[in-house]
Amino acid sequence: METKVLRSQLLELIRRTSCELPDDLIRALDKSRRKEKKGTTARYALDVMRENVDLARDKSQPLCQDTGTIICYVDLPKWITEKQFQSAYESAVKTATNKGFLRQNSVDSITGENSGTNLGPGSPAIHFHQASGKSLGVRMMLKGGGSENVSCQYSLPNNKLGAGRDIEGVRKCILDAVQNAQGKGCGPGILGVCIGSDRGSGFVAAKEQFFRQLDDTNDDKLLSKLEKKLLKQANTLGIGPMGFGGETTLMGIKICARNRVPASFFVSISYMCWAYRRNGFLLTESGKINRWLYEGK
Ligand code: SF4
Repeated sequence: METKVLRSQLLELIRRTSCELPDDLIRALDKSRRKEKKGTTARYALDVMRENVDLARDKSQPLCQDTGTIICYVDLPKWITEKQFQSAYESAVKTATNKGFLRQNSVDSITGENSGTNLGPGSPAIHFHQASGKSLGVRMMLKGGGSENVSCQYSLPNNKLGAGRDIEGVRKCILDAVQNAQGKGCGPGILGVCIGSDRGSGFVAAKEQFFRQLDDTNDDKLLSKLEKKLLKQANTLGIGPMGFGGETTLMGIKICARNRVPASFFVSISYMCWAYRRNGFLLTESGKINRWLYEGK
């Protein structure tokens, strides 16, 4: 594939991710609005979010002023190398920043200097995997700083919560995280959770959960039950959108489990705000988009 074709397809992916909320999220926002009583602050907040979604799409402008950390997961087929992809993606990020689809949002962690391009060590964050088919699979998300600030990790057992090293202990940690957030991180939130693993890989796996469809069912029966139970319980806490009270504290919880060493039991909880910007596509070697992964489902 010609480099300029790849760059232009990646630029369009970034534009859509920043400016268009995926269909499953729009459905969840509409469902939440119907649940909240008219005239309440919760309903008003959700109405404003919904209007914002339409405005951003129609004007092709970022859904939120914080365009977040740029995180990309790539399934790489044999016809392209990591280096080639990274160079094309970085170039697309730079152009997207120039065009205003991304805010100048990446600073040197020591000096605070802003590169103005969103490029720098670790930015964008790209995770590579070998593709099983011939298409290049690219999924990306823009993870807002406010929501990242309320993400957290627990080490079980936790005496303060009375949480042991079992599913009940995990449940207590997740509810505690929602209570602590209290609408900060721009709720209604969506949680990506990893049970187990080490501290670093646990958060990577927790974030990967955000690539699931919001209304899917977990293949693991126990985790599926836990997701449903926790969503129901979280929505009885009365925290509501942006902490204004109401019935919509969370719009979804997605949980995975990864092996751990017997000495450790971590619960890694990644919090996503209502501006849940993720998208992805499958691209053929000739540069044609086979399928947008989150549209129309
Ligand atoms: S947490 Fe999300 S909605 Fe809130 S300011 Fe950041 S990106 Fe925007």
